[in-house]
Amino acid sequence: MENIVYTYDKTVYLNITNACPCNCEFCVRHNTDGLGDMGSLWLDHEPSMTEIKEAIDAFDWDGITDAVFCGFGEPTCALDKLLETAKYLKETRGVKIRLNTNGLSDLIHHSTDSAERMAGLIDSVSISLNASDAEKYDAIVHPSFGLQAFDAMIRFTKDCQKYIPKVKMTVVDTIGEEEIEKCQKLCRDNGIDLRVRKYIP
Ligand code: SF4
Repeated sequence: MENIVYTYDKTVYLNITNACPCNCEFCVRHNTDGLGDMGSLWLDHEPSMTEIKEAIDAFDWDGITDAVFCGFGEPTCALDKLLETAKYLKETRGVKIRLNTNGLSDLIHHSTDSAERMAGLIDSVSISLNASDAEKYDAIVHPSFGLQAFDAMIRFTKDCQKYIPKVKMTVVDTIGEEEIEKCQKLCRDNGIDLRVRKYIP
């Protein structure tokens, strides 16, 4: 499959699933079908591990030092494949691996050990905080899990701090100054780095 590995702004991304339990107001999928050099990031089926490895092998990794799991879906929906892919990339290409995630892997998999399983495979993780409390989060992200999603996402982030070298949360700058300040306080209180990123429609 051709749209599993793509590049955007000189970074290599891995689009391993279109599944997601959320429907974020600002999800890039609402506005476009593709990103970077890829016309469409909609997969015609959820790729098998063989197809993911074939896509990696078909890509020219010369000079590439980093790869990011981020596509038209939540990468941890395919957690087993995500971890196997990260292992394969580390062993065969020696690249550093970043994961962009909604932080809901434990809810998705009815588990508590998603972050622990990433130890040694994921070098940095970026988790979308989106809002400062459960109600506001629910109104923006619309997770299928309801209000419990916010606390689960914070718990996952704290777990990541035990197992992953670099952990940060992000919010987009369109949520308003007051809300950004609340998110900054929440992250400060929990010892988590926060990046306020520009919203790109
Ligand atoms: S979690 Fe990511 S893929 Fe899922 S709806 Fe939100 S922005 Fe889109």
